Amino acid sequence: MNADPHEIQKFSDLAHRWWDPTSEFRPLHDINPLRLEWINARAPLSGRKVIDIGCGGGILAESMARKGADVTGIDLSDKALKVADLHSLESGVTVRYQLIAAEDMAAQEAGQYDVVTCMEMLEHVPDPASIVRAAAALVKPGGLVFFSTLNRNPKSYLYAVVGAEYLLRMLPKGTHDYAKFITPAELSQYVRQAGLELAAMKGLGYNPLTKLYALNDDTSVNYMVACRRPL
Ligand code: SAH
Repeated sequence: MNADPHEIQKFSDLAHRWWDPTSEFRPLHDINPLRLEWINARAPLSGRKVIDIGCGGGILAESMARKGADVTGIDLSDKALKVADLHSLESGVTVRYQLIAAEDMAAQEAGQYDVVTCMEMLEHVPDPASIVRAAAALVKPGGLVFFSTLNRNPKSYLYAVVGAEYLLRMLPKGTHDYAKFITPAELSQYVRQAGLELAAMKGLGYNPLTKLYALNDDTSVNYMVACRRPL
């Protein structure tokens, strides 16, 4: 299977703190409104069928359901999915969570989704191109697929590993493996090879002084892409 057991375990061990906005997951809480609005501006979510690959505890999945989407969240961490389910019960926002690999879901539900999202996940899997292909298979012709990940260059090493894990201690040490970061050129190639068209790319910047994130055109560290499956 296209999964690293050590990576899944890392997220499972922290899963009980997923919805604590002051925990290790704070960055995901902080960036969520920005990415949600970016997605919703390109693919209005209300009434759409959406699948979130690597949904974890459901921060993005639940927020998309709140916008009126019919959301399925998949992940390989059973613990994260249990936390997601529990949170959905408490919040009353319904999401269908399922423990299944993206590739297996693609075989079962090909072409059934208006929108596919896969955020902050590709840099944790052994074969990211295979996940991109699964996402391309899940989306309907004309539908949109969104990915976010970390670029790979000296600056992203300094910001995402040294800065976030060692200096600012925003993330536990070992959260990210620099070698698995993905450049926009590599991701664009996976996207094209999967038969998708790249529609937009956006950077996500962090200001350590204000502790605020903002969307910008600097894709050197965190970035998102929007892709379209041709009709
Ligand atoms: N996408 C969510 C969570 C990001 S954390 C968000 O942005 O809010 C990364 C998630 O990817 C974790 O939940 C982890 O369990 C999951 N993951 C890692 N490898 C995976 C794989 N091979 N298949 C499915 N999920 C995976």
